[in-house]
Amino acid sequence: MMDALFISDLHLSLERPAATALFLRFLEERCGSAGNLYILGDLFDAWIGDDDDTPPIPAIREALRAAGSRGTKIHLMHGNRDFLIGERFATETGCSLLSDPTVIEMQKKRLLLMHGDLLCSDDLEYQQARKFLRSSDFINDFLSKTIKERSLLAAEYRKRSGEVISLKPVDIMDVNWQTVEQYISNHNADLLIHGHTHRPGVHRIEVAGSEVKRIVLGDWSADQGPCLGISAEGINTQPFIC
Ligand code: MN
Repeated sequence: MMDALFISDLHLSLERPAATALFLRFLEERCGSAGNLYILGDLFDAWIGDDDDTPPIPAIREALRAAGSRGTKIHLMHGNRDFLIGERFATETGCSLLSDPTVIEMQKKRLLLMHGDLLCSDDLEYQQARKFLRSSDFINDFLSKTIKERSLLAAEYRKRSGEVISLKPVDIMDVNWQTVEQYISNHNADLLIHGHTHRPGVHRIEVAGSEVKRIVLGDWSADQGPCLGISAEGINTQPFIC
């Protein structure tokens, strides 16, 4: 039985060549055995449109396409950094875009997949900005600008949100437990997998009388790629290392 792999928060960019190299090797060496690869958001540290060809984007696009042609189905969910990834990128890479949240069935279990930012509901300011940034008004206006204009705007936004984040109390950057329970019970899930918070861990919670696991994926560094594998043998949390 081929397994499924789950990763998130690679935050690939020109500034992090080692993480990109690690991911390219991951696609070549680790994905071959997996029937499905789920990338649960923030594959890229920023995404300003599918027409941007700045390195390392072309190499990553090509590597995703190659992994897909070797037989791994690649599913891509938007993160808060790369929510502008569109159909063109999906077509060029052979990836399918997943909406957030998505439920899949695996090993007779219902898996709820999310990026994780929707669970951080205590951060009202962020949730409001999220709504605005994902509105078609904002997206259409943004994508109508030149690549240069877009990258300047994106850099400015990142700088601003970085400043805001550093001023926020640590707790409101994590998930809200009631929101987690709500999503799990609304989707009747046996397992929740998400990233975003960069606080990897396995949590057990009781929802409506049954125990549900919540697995938080870690973010990638230059020499370690946290990775969750699920197969008939069970759950494997061995990271991919360089
Ligand atoms: Mn994120």
